[in-house]
Amino acid sequence: MSPGTAEFGFELLVCRWAEASWPPEEPREDAVVVARQLGTRERRWDTVVLECDPAGLAARAQFGERELDSDLLHVVRNAPAEWAWYRDALPDPGYPWRYVRAAVHRAADRDVVQTRRRGNRIQIRRVAPYPDWLRRIVAVENKPDLDASAARALAGQLEHDVESALADEVWVATEATGGRVEPALLEDLPVEVGILAVSVAAGERDGPPTDAADRAAAGAADRTAADVEWYPSAVTPDATDAGRERRRLVLAERAYGRGWRSYHETMRPDCRHFELHRQGRALVPYCAAKGRPQTAAECAGSCAEFEPEPPAWRTRGWPIEGGPGKGIKRLLRRRREWIRRRERAGRDSESTHRTD
Ligand code: SF4
Repeated sequence: MSPGTAEFGFELLVCRWAEASWPPEEPREDAVVVARQLGTRERRWDTVVLECDPAGLAARAQFGERELDSDLLHVVRNAPAEWAWYRDALPDPGYPWRYVRAAVHRAADRDVVQTRRRGNRIQIRRVAPYPDWLRRIVAVENKPDLDASAARALAGQLEHDVESALADEVWVATEATGGRVEPALLEDLPVEVGILAVSVAAGERDGPPTDAADRAAAGAADRTAADVEWYPSAVTPDATDAGRERRRLVLAERAYGRGWRSYHETMRPDCRHFELHRQGRALVPYCAAKGRPQTAAECAGSCAEFEPEPPAWRTRGWPIEGGPGKGIKRLLRRRREWIRRRERAGRDSESTHRTD
């Protein structure tokens, strides 16, 4: 199995674990939102965990399930409680007002502000105060095979993460080997970065899917777990960096809007070989043509083995309306919505036993 393949499956399992069990070795107090493959122009993180104020996260839902980009945030966060001309109500953006006007229209189309016309002027009013929902951002780099050379290769990126202080905490997640992490390896990583040893449950390993009997035999104890090998230190932001909070909120909004199951938006669930396999509690993409879990990069329009799902799948005998491709997308969306409702409502003990 290629390293890329192993890393993709591992990444999904880490996301699934974080959604159910973050923070490691502590009881959960915050609501948690998990996303994957997010970051800035300079740096993309494998897994992003947002620790959120539960009431704030519930209030954020009033602005819809989609992310608010930086222009929309400027409008929504500053929209007044009473009607006002948008140029009076919003702070000078530092770029031409015509872009703000376009953002006001987009915001109105999405019902995240109200607008009305008075003569030539567009007035705006907020639908609700934009809540203070984000507490902390945690960045996780996934490296299932963390050996000394992988640690050296990662060190520069992780140093940048610590220096940029966009995340409050930085971790490397690696697959537990049963032994302690080598001291030499710790020397290669910045001391501020935490190390998480993830024990992938037998039923959640890459490879041929487990059958129903295997899964039943695996039972509730068969789940991915993680132990802290090294605790991170909180990174120290540059107090003079005025744009940091804005950049963090833009990142958090992207994480909120995309989650970690959105791989179906870039992969090809409309391919006849695309399957979702339940491995333990996680659903992991599986390519029947390759006979293994595929990476997001290889499961694209350029894949030589891509074959569209036969039209008959959409019309006859398939239990999910629209054929498996559409059914898979709906399934992943429904699961994301269900998790969001649960995070907003507060988790109950029963919900933590649901399968991904
Ligand atoms: S054949 Fe290619 S496009 Fe189809 S599921 Fe496999 S990797 Fe994805």
